[in-house]
Amino acid sequence: MTDYVIRGARVLGGEPTDIALSGGVIEAIGAGLDAGGATEVDARGLIALPGLVDLHTHLREPGREDAETVLTGSQAAARGGFTCVHAMANTDPVADTAGVVEQVWRLGRESGYCDVQPVGAVTVGLGGTQLAELGAMADSAATVRVFSDDGKCVWDPVLMRRALEYVKAFGGVIAQHAQEPRLTENAQMNEGVLSGELGLPGWPAVAEESIIARDVLLAAHVGSRLHVCHLSTRGSVEIVRWAKSKGWDVTAEVTPHHLLLTDDLVRSYDPIYKVNPPLRTADDVQAVREGLADGTIDVVATDHAPHPMEDKECEWSAAAFGMIGLETALSVVQQTMVDTGLLSWEQVVDRMSAAPAKISGAGGGHGRPLAVGEPAHLVLYDADATRVVAPDDTASLSRNTPYSGRELPGRVVATFLRGVPTVLDGTLQEVNG
Ligand SMILES: [Zn+2]
Repeated sequence: MTDYVIRGARVLGGEPTDIALSGGVIEAIGAGLDAGGATEVDARGLIALPGLVDLHTHLREPGREDAETVLTGSQAAARGGFTCVHAMANTDPVADTAGVVEQVWRLGRESGYCDVQPVGAVTVGLGGTQLAELGAMADSAATVRVFSDDGKCVWDPVLMRRALEYVKAFGGVIAQHAQEPRLTENAQMNEGVLSGELGLPGWPAVAEESIIARDVLLAAHVGSRLHVCHLSTRGSVEIVRWAKSKGWDVTAEVTPHHLLLTDDLVRSYDPIYKVNPPLRTADDVQAVREGLADGTIDVVATDHAPHPMEDKECEWSAAAFGMIGLETALSVVQQTMVDTGLLSWEQVVDRMSAAPAKISGAGGGHGRPLAVGEPAHLVLYDADATRVVAPDDTASLSRNTPYSGRELPGRVVATFLRGVPTVLDGTLQEVNG
């Protein structure tokens, strides 16, 4: 019995066709499919893509349920076209034990809006001094494969080496937040002429690049896998390009905001633009776009970082770092990469679905192509639409979007998780988690 027949969708932007979904899988693809008793979805003019996978999401639960919960973050993800997100470990308590990662994993299953794959901490309490129970988290029901102290850098080279060695046993990967702590003490924005002019302490590119250089060498030395979180500078792209040319097992991600926004916005002193790593120069933006286009950067990851109003609407130096981004990611990628001719839709699917799923080893059939017999994780996207971003138009509990009032292309019309619509006509649906 067919559940849904999607009419006239353009798979990866190709010719219009129908897609039939049944029992959580794609049953048939072709023109003029028989509806039988199935629900029909009019997708004429819409592009069909596989469900997106985010390798870098902050869901804030447990501990900061005033900023986000697994449920609200999952709903924001669904509205952004995501069917799987990776929840970062910097919660309270920190996700550094099997107990906490299993809690987050269960909350994701109960929410039912997208699959939530927990990321485990590398060090106990993100303290940077003692390796966390990586093996126990890997063996837990959450089957953790990605480990990160994100928000903090695993600075100690001996600890970083041990972590890289440890995860080899079960095919894990260390995702590094590359930030040399001594070079960034009290740092507030990108270090350059502008930080001097504005009188804000600088966060120099070398603080990111020196850690990435060290880590690619360490990963090569021990023959392990390194993933570089949210790289943001031209030098970082060049180092990763060099590491890949050596054949080393290194992958990297860039955020939508680093593909679009520059440090000039900090002139406003509006903390909505305060983020870590900071917004960089127009030349860096050009370099990360080129790196994403040529495959040096494997993945677009949102670094969705919700914060309540009081942590962002204050003076610059006191404000929290971070921006929300799940519901705008695909639009920003369309504007910066597709509408500029740098990426095809097929390549967008690689950077936002296939590659992140492959890096994390996420189960659940994520990152698979739209083909008969594959799990029915898919997005229907109207690339011809435009919208002006309104902060209140979000499923997130937080409103800290840097795109408020900005016109962005595209709109997610529908998202299906295992053949069940989490979003239809741009509206969240009731689901049974
Ligand atoms: Zn980070």
